Amino acid sequence: MPRLYGKSDAPLGAALRPPDDNRPVPVVEYPVTPNSTAIDLASPAQPAEHAGQPIIAVRDLVHRYQDRTALNGVSFEVRPAELFGLLGPNGSGKTTLFRILSTLMVPTSGSTTIAGFDAVRQPGSLRRHIGVVFQAQSVDPKLTAYENLWHQGHLYGLRGPELKTRITEILTRVGLVDRSADRVETFSGGMQRRIELAKGLLHHPEVLLLDEPTTGLDPGARRDLWQYLQILRDQERVSVIVTTHLMEEAERCDRLAILNEGNLVALGTPEALTREIGGDVILLEARDPQTLADRIRTKFQVDATVMDNQVRIEIENGHRFVPDVVEAFPGEIQSLSVSKPTLEDVFIHRTGHRFWSEDAEPAPQTGKKKATKKRS
Ligand code: ADP
Repeated sequence: MPRLYGKSDAPLGAALRPPDDNRPVPVVEYPVTPNSTAIDLASPAQPAEHAGQPIIAVRDLVHRYQDRTALNGVSFEVRPAELFGLLGPNGSGKTTLFRILSTLMVPTSGSTTIAGFDAVRQPGSLRRHIGVVFQAQSVDPKLTAYENLWHQGHLYGLRGPELKTRITEILTRVGLVDRSADRVETFSGGMQRRIELAKGLLHHPEVLLLDEPTTGLDPGARRDLWQYLQILRDQERVSVIVTTHLMEEAERCDRLAILNEGNLVALGTPEALTREIGGDVILLEARDPQTLADRIRTKFQVDATVMDNQVRIEIENGHRFVPDVVEAFPGEIQSLSVSKPTLEDVFIHRTGHRFWSEDAEPAPQTGKKKATKKRS
């Protein structure tokens, strides 16, 4: 069981005020409901008795910003030592969910418990069990790596030799112990992100929440970060929750919750989700894709749809279907591809539209299209 140091709670953004367990949730950025002043009613904080239980339970979570519904009844569980991904295009509700999980926002309705503590009624106790890595930089670039962690440790009630040992331990863990006396501003983007990670882990949380942690990192640094997350899960049994809009990152997760417009559209391991589609995905290019799709449906009784000017067919044994369809419509098919289903296919299958839109800007690190909502 991870240890807790000292008695004081470690509020997120605790630099704003002194550590204090049962005080109102600091609310950042968003207007909140009167519930946001709710305090931790559990007294004293109960130990996290959750052996065999999910470490996170999200039940029927709804969040509305005025008349806009950002989360529309989302429920899922995360198991101990699981690497869990929240995948969705922009606007799907990931950040809203992340903020609720990290106790920065109170949902309109529904509940979230982490390590047995309710995010609305017991935020102070819950925060002892989570480490949070936000997208925005939280390290002070003018301080050294060691000093950043020293201040972070103080916010969590860590002191003296114990803190010193823990800083060395965690800097070793993220591969930066030899740079501990250097100012963070001299670090590469990947190294700075590792210091963020070290900050989030300093107090031995059971759960680490990361919001799009690889944004702005080069491919090597991204790979390193994912390796750290896997090591954390395997060696320290930390449950890691990562939001992402990148399919290749989602594929590295043990399980995924896929969000679209505030709805949970799929939940499961990447393998099970893609297997569920079964068979292959065939894409055909034609001068008149709509007419071709109609004719394929009529002739073969398969579900051919048109998406981004391509005919799309999900079918078992695609390689056998290909010669039949080419022969049936000679000269009409300009190009053709057969592939195994990907997570993008899962998204299309569940929502009827693409994850990435054609007219979106390329995402900075991948050259891939940025996720936006687009109806087919
Ligand atoms: P994601 O992180 O997946 O991009 P968000 O949680 O940021 O999604 O947003 C979900 C929805 O809520 C979007 O439609 C977004 O425009 C809306 N939204 C987010 N923040 C606010 C806010 N502060 N006020 C009003 N609407 C918001």
